[in-house]
Amino acid sequence: MELQQLAFSKLETLDDYDPNSMPVEQARQLIQHFLHPLEQQETVPLHAALHRTLAHDLLSPMNVPPHDYSAMDGYALRFADLTGERPRLKRVGSSFAGHAFEGQLAAGECVRIMTGAPIPHDCDCVVMQEHVQVEGDTVVVGGGHRPGQNVRLIGEDMKQGETVLARGHRIRPVEMGLLASLGISEIAVYRKLKVAIFSTGDELQLPGKPLAAGQIYDSNRYSLFGMLSELGADILDMGNIRDDRASLRNSLLDAASQADVIITSGGVSVGEADYIKELLAEIGEVVFWKIAMKPGRPLAYGKIGSCHFFGLPGNPVAVMVTFHQFVRDALRRLMGQYPKTALTFRAVCVTPIKKAPGRAEFQRGILSRNDSGELVVHTTGNQGSGVLSSMSKANCYIILPVSQGNAEAGLSVEVQLFD
Ligand code: AMP
Ligand code: MG
Repeated sequence: MELQQLAFSKLETLDDYDPNSMPVEQARQLIQHFLHPLEQQETVPLHAALHRTLAHDLLSPMNVPPHDYSAMDGYALRFADLTGERPRLKRVGSSFAGHAFEGQLAAGECVRIMTGAPIPHDCDCVVMQEHVQVEGDTVVVGGGHRPGQNVRLIGEDMKQGETVLARGHRIRPVEMGLLASLGISEIAVYRKLKVAIFSTGDELQLPGKPLAAGQIYDSNRYSLFGMLSELGADILDMGNIRDDRASLRNSLLDAASQADVIITSGGVSVGEADYIKELLAEIGEVVFWKIAMKPGRPLAYGKIGSCHFFGLPGNPVAVMVTFHQFVRDALRRLMGQYPKTALTFRAVCVTPIKKAPGRAEFQRGILSRNDSGELVVHTTGNQGSGVLSSMSKANCYIILPVSQGNAEAGLSVEVQLFD
């Protein structure tokens, strides 16, 4: 049996499986069953590697640094020569970054050395220039030095042959620098994940065009575009689709024939023009379509052939919350990464909380330190799922469990930073 069928057949065996009201954690786990990461690879130049996923374990081809070098401007010498009260050494040459001292040192000699310059073969110590007195060619050294001081050793960053990055590692700015420090100019990564997006709604107008009566601007496709760009997806933007059954059906089929994943917004609730869930059932399979959370209760997940489908709610805040809480990690897994559970911690909420028990809630918060240095969080005020400005003011989610009701200021809450 195919893995996908296996996953679908497993659904029925779960006694608490309710596609009509899925607890947040269960929904995350269910999605996991369906995620089979991309396998195709390509080799890209380092400049194009940002946000991509390593397709192999990376073994260091060399030692970094490739030679011992000085961490200071000063004098390279042999520690054994530092004898007596104020040892006097003879300066016999210089070592600059990129221009090593090639000569040999005799006893009692030293070499002027700059930060980043290779340590001459016979030396084991660098004395900072501030700790010597120079009298012509003679360098007079003060006391209190140690062998090995100010010397950066070959391979102390990365050793030749050592595994520095594992397959599935996401390439961030630091990894671009790290790969470059290993002399690597191109790298094997998984191909980009192709994600088709479209908005649904007769009320939607394109930014830049005048609004007619009853219209609003389509914002979801832009926040989605931004979130997908940050993940490094290959985005197929299909625009706004009318609340028309046939157009929606064609768009879904068209998207499924081209993309690995489809993400739509709107049309997943129970209004008369909300066709998405019904169409998904007709041309694909629905895994769930409601989550016990706020905002984001209507959230459809399913498959159309081998294409994953996420039908996000229409409300702009709900789009971002459901993307962050479900879609982002799912896409990362498909890209070949191993996303870690988002880090959360506790902070005292200094504003009262309004919440009805029954659903998990993701409120927008601003985390900061109070005058005593303690982490505190306050809500951004209006928590309506259409109030996108509350998301813009916030820097974190305040995650409130299903059972939580209204609370006075002072409650300890779970917080998840946006970045
Ligand atoms: P729906 O889920 O289609 O009923 O939409 C729920 C709410 O979100 C309605 O107020 C819609 O007008 C609004 N909405 C839907 N799609 C968008 C969009 N792309 N941009 C901004 N608001 C939207
Ligand atoms: Mg709609």
